[in-house]
Amino acid sequence: TGPVVVVGAGHAALETAAALRAAGHSRPVILVGAESEPPYARPPLSKGYLTGRVGTEELWLRPEGFFARQDVTAVLGDPVVEIDRDSDRVRLASGGRIAYGTLVLATGARPRRLSVPGADLDGVFALRSLRDARELRRALGAGGDVLVVGGGFIGLEVASAARGLGLRVTVVEAGPRLMGRAVTGTLSAHLAELHRAEGTRVLLDRELVALRGERGRVRVAELNDGTRLAADVVVVGIGVLPNTGLAAQAGLTTGNGVVVDRWLRTGDRNVYAIGDCARFPTPHAARPVRLESVQNATEQAACVAAALTGTRRPYTAVPWFWTEQCGVRVQMAGLTGQHDREVVAGSPAEGRFTVFCFRAGRLVGAESVNRSADHLITRRLLAAGGAGPAPDDVARPGFDLRRHLS
Ligand code: FAD
Repeated sequence: TGPVVVVGAGHAALETAAALRAAGHSRPVILVGAESEPPYARPPLSKGYLTGRVGTEELWLRPEGFFARQDVTAVLGDPVVEIDRDSDRVRLASGGRIAYGTLVLATGARPRRLSVPGADLDGVFALRSLRDARELRRALGAGGDVLVVGGGFIGLEVASAARGLGLRVTVVEAGPRLMGRAVTGTLSAHLAELHRAEGTRVLLDRELVALRGERGRVRVAELNDGTRLAADVVVVGIGVLPNTGLAAQAGLTTGNGVVVDRWLRTGDRNVYAIGDCARFPTPHAARPVRLESVQNATEQAACVAAALTGTRRPYTAVPWFWTEQCGVRVQMAGLTGQHDREVVAGSPAEGRFTVFCFRAGRLVGAESVNRSADHLITRRLLAAGGAGPAPDDVARPGFDLRRHLS
């Protein structure tokens, strides 16, 4: 009983409301969001939105009128500043209070900030919100030298978009390879080659130590090996921090995310956490994880909506991701961090391959470049939890993953 109040009005929040109504849930549903825009898709912000291929009107996750039609209340531009679990109410920045029967935390994450001198100069950007993307798009439109700090998903997507706009681009990555925390060495090397072939300068094992400006605007970046680079636009893509402040203040357990159980519940039975802000156990990893993906936000929303409409089930969805860089679509299925063996099918030289990852002889994930069928079938195999192909099967000439579908 009592309204379902969702803190956040991003991907996970919107999908929670939509799934609740699709399942016939009749209690009031209220989304409370810090941003003033209705829920929008973030993935295009580092891709087609920057090049102009995707317009603002294509970002909205639902058409105008969705909230009225679905009888969902959206309170936008007014963040929740406190959760009072004694009275089951949230307090908004504007001073208003909203009572909840069930509370869903879908507060997402915020970009990690640079901690070098000059980090606050004009021309230094993070990219999380539509507002960030608008400002970055304007800055890229003015041309000049672009420095991307961090060779992760967002940094590389921005690098690719900026090259697409004809700008001079340098990526500086502190680690020995691109996307080092997320993908195999084979894929890292392939991406580095693609970016370099497009004319982007990729500097590995190098750290930014300072940004220098003129009249408050960034002009030069200094690296730890003494290199000085011209930089009119600096894009910082060094990861995100989950928004856990509210949960922690309310006495819920946090630690790289709001800690939840297999049903996505916090220690308080009436409070769930989903999406980028939640850390949860999964059959697809040895330890609890926090994932940043549309798939995770959408399927966790569906899981909570199912629980609230009477079909409680643990969250076991197969994680998957995608990225688009240098005109190539890369798709990842499963979690490949803790694998002990990789076998490549197809041809990296021809730009069409899948890296299959195994742990103790069992398939745990796959990274596909221009081989969508491998990606989709791997997702099905991982969901089924069966044996799947063995490493030697993949290595054999003429290997066809479809044969392993039952
Ligand atoms: P969000 O969508 O971030 O929504 C959280 C919302 O909560 C925000 O609007 C925030 O302002 C609000 N909020 C925070 N605190 C409060 C508060 N106290 N009160 C009220 N509201 C609050 N994923 C992919 O799978 N593929 C991609 O290609 C991809 N590309 C991406 C590109 C970019 C530039 C970015 C930023 C992300 C990308 N992602 C991608 C990740 C994906 O967008 C996120 O995983 C997804 O948006 C997570 O949804 P969420 O609802 O958990 O968080």
